[in-house]
Amino acid sequence: MTDECLFCRIAEGRTDTKLMFEDDTLVVFKDIHPHAPVHLLVVPKKHIRSVNDLGQEDGPIVAHLISVARDMARQQGIDRSGYKLLFNVESGGGQVIFHLHLHLLGGFG
Ligand code: AMP
Ligand code: ZN
Repeated sequence: MTDECLFCRIAEGRTDTKLMFEDDTLVVFKDIHPHAPVHLLVVPKKHIRSVNDLGQEDGPIVAHLISVARDMARQQGIDRSGYKLLFNVESGGGQVIFHLHLHLLGGFG
């Protein structure tokens, strides 16, 4: 998938996208067209098309996406004011990049 998939390329450090966080499992970077004062994308390094394609073995990845999103919310100072965590699933759900990602949106005031 690597060559055709933008988020695989970002996760592999093959673009100039600045990563805000990286570990063995995932990367975090700013959404290029933010829908909120804080809008980050939490993206697994493993290519998974969407929530529909998650396997039993991917449970730990999903749990990690959520806990890192929580940590990033705290780091951005929006944990107490509140935030949204969002997966868009397939075209009808608003997904345009078909590599799983969790949106972190907050700082609405
Ligand atoms: P979705 O609609 O859930 O597939 O979300 C894809 C998101 O990726 C959109 O909010 C886009 O603004 C964002 N996006 C697309 N290309 C880039 C990029 N190169 N760097 C950061 N965010 C991007
Ligand atoms: Zn991918």
